[in-house]
Amino acid sequence: MQLRWLGTAGFELISGGTSVLIDPYLTRNADATPQQNLSPSDFAHVKAIFITHGHFDHTIDVPQIVRMSGAPAYASPAVCQSLAARGVPWNRLKPTWPWKRVKADPFIFGALPARHVTFDPHLVITTLWNSRMKLMEISRLGGHRFRTGEVFGWLIDVEGKKLFHLGSACMIWGVSNNIDVFMVPVQGRTDIAEVSAELVRRVRPGLVIPHHFDDFYPPLSRTIDLAPFEVAVRRRVIDVPIQIPTINSLIEL
Ligand SMILES: [Zn+2]
Repeated sequence: MQLRWLGTAGFELISGGTSVLIDPYLTRNADATPQQNLSPSDFAHVKAIFITHGHFDHTIDVPQIVRMSGAPAYASPAVCQSLAARGVPWNRLKPTWPWKRVKADPFIFGALPARHVTFDPHLVITTLWNSRMKLMEISRLGGHRFRTGEVFGWLIDVEGKKLFHLGSACMIWGVSNNIDVFMVPVQGRTDIAEVSAELVRRVRPGLVIPHHFDDFYPPLSRTIDLAPFEVAVRRRVIDVPIQIPTINSLIEL
């Protein structure tokens, strides 16, 4: 199978002729690094869309991708309501709850209960200060339209492999064992290197693919240096390969 990082928490998973998306987010602002040259029309082929939570950097492009592809979107009931209010027809929305399993052949997706990372005060204050000239623009990316909803981690079975994707760096339910690939987010706290490394320690996967470390919507985001994260993983004496993805490049698993 192949996996393609789309920036932020977004991934395309490809097995045989079938593609599915997790948290696709393409519409970055002009200052974002890296830029994303793909648009919703490049995803007319996808079979299903899986969403971890409702924030703009996980769902803003979902209505357009559903329109282009006709694919169903699996998300919490609250996020489905937000997507419906943003024009997604209810027959394409699949309200989902923890422990539900969804077949999108050859993929099986299981929703695990998760939590959103808690932004720390230092990060909140510096982000607000950096954003003070763009508060009108940024206010359109928050509130009811992009409410968090219930947060899921997605446990994926495909081709005899187990993949685990978290959209935000907090987990209440450890996945017990045998995770081959862990897609771990690295953004949202001043001490995120330690927080994300601790998630890796708990999951103990065969391969780590960090994501969400990019500057996807400055000044709300920042580029996260992954060196401290790698150091924090090694300090936990975990000899796991860490593959840092580049945007839109295929990773063979
Ligand atoms: Zn979020």
